[in-house]
Amino acid sequence: MSYFSELGLAEPILRALEAKGYSDPTPIQRQAIPALMEGRDLLGIAQTGTGKTAAFSLPSLHRLAANPKVPQPASCRMLVLSPTRELAAQIADNMKGYAKFLRLQVDCIFGGVPVGKQARRLASGTDVLVATPGRLLDLIDQRALTLRNVEIFVLDEADQMMDLGFIQPLTRVAALLPKDRQSLFFSATMPQAIADLGKRFINNPVKVQVAPQSTTAERIEQRAIFVNQGEKQALLTISLRDGLADSSIERALVFTRTKHGADRVVRHLAAAGVNAAAIHGNKSQAQRTRALEGFRQGGVPILVATDIAARGIDVSGVSHVFNYEMPNVAEQYVHRIGRTARAGADGIALSFVAPDERPYLRDIEKLTKVKLEAQALPEDFLKQAASLPAAKRTAADEERSDRFPRRDGGRGGRPQGGQRPQGQNNGGGGRGDGRGRGEGRRGDGNRGAPRGDGQRREPGEERHPRPTGTNAVGAHADKVRKVY
Ligand code: AMP
Repeated sequence: MSYFSELGLAEPILRALEAKGYSDPTPIQRQAIPALMEGRDLLGIAQTGTGKTAAFSLPSLHRLAANPKVPQPASCRMLVLSPTRELAAQIADNMKGYAKFLRLQVDCIFGGVPVGKQARRLASGTDVLVATPGRLLDLIDQRALTLRNVEIFVLDEADQMMDLGFIQPLTRVAALLPKDRQSLFFSATMPQAIADLGKRFINNPVKVQVAPQSTTAERIEQRAIFVNQGEKQALLTISLRDGLADSSIERALVFTRTKHGADRVVRHLAAAGVNAAAIHGNKSQAQRTRALEGFRQGGVPILVATDIAARGIDVSGVSHVFNYEMPNVAEQYVHRIGRTARAGADGIALSFVAPDERPYLRDIEKLTKVKLEAQALPEDFLKQAASLPAAKRTAADEERSDRFPRRDGGRGGRPQGGQRPQGQNNGGGGRGDGRGRGEGRRGDGNRGAPRGDGQRREPGEERHPRPTGTNAVGAHADKVRKVY
């Protein structure tokens, strides 16, 4: 018998856990489950990868099963709100697994797919509904759903919700929930704004915290490579190509700040024979699902993602996280690198830091209290970079280069030979795009707002991408360490 049975969970749940191969609860599960089984509200500060999905799912399913009721039409007994589609689907999948020996129905709704089918599915009601906020409110507005019968409410990844500008929808949801309910509120970080949001939902909560706020998992080796923006593509291509070839890289997530940037990176990797897929907000739901499945199942070893799309994604065996561009919000770094070293594994996080990104690195080091180990470019970086094939340029690239002419003549990701001008790569320099560093930070209320070009901008994404490319390379060419 596992320690889970000592927590008093119902037998069908224990059987499901056994089928999943869980023998012992993780620390957050150990702390949260007893209080949640008593019906207490909970404030959980936990990174992804700590087992928090099971921490809130197991006692909730236990309580719902202990008090069986036929769900009312167009309603749910438990509501889980998640910031992204992928995370919502993942939570629902996990919950279905935990509930597989119970007579409880778990359903999931999110945007990007037709709403009519979801409305029809909800007509007879469900026990557990996992939802993203926008689609949830759409369905409520269409009178396809009411929150009147919610007994348990879970708000997951609250800080990401704020980042995505979901504060208004959350305020609406708060007003629609019945007063008499159990509420659970999870966030990886707990700055004051998030704590204030929490007060709207939770009442006299038990507080559980599994890692000090904003610390990074100890098992992640964190390194920084100082490199010019125009050299990053070549560095990435070489790192991934060689790492996959000698199996030191099993599966890698690459983070870019913009959606176009993610697509561009994938094209360059493809040109060099590296199989990669992109996942971001401009992709259709079918494309996002396909990319994630390919990555999860191992057919596509490299996933290039923007922050929104990757948040909370639980894929085992991610050996490396590459920060192709540094996040301008330090907490985002914690989330990004938390994609590796999940469920007890080790991981490597490599950050490519351009001179104008040094201030971001300083913010990150201040927040995490971890100094990233500096790593040099590979010994023959220049030579290898020069031999990389150029990727095909798209209309979007052409348009961008009209606005921001590249100094390398637009030769894809290949840096040009030549000397780095004096002072390059010394860091500290301001951003070249005239944007203040505070812009686009959390709480600006513009996240997720439609942009002038009709596309939604992601957190940290700029109205116009920074000009890429500099013909200054080679300052590190005398260094010898491998980059992966
Ligand atoms: P989460 O933080 O909820 O995304 O969970 C991270 C990973 O840990 C998921 O792959 C879970 O399936 C796994 N997991 C959760 N609880 C346990 C447990 N008690 N024992 C082993 N693995 C677990």
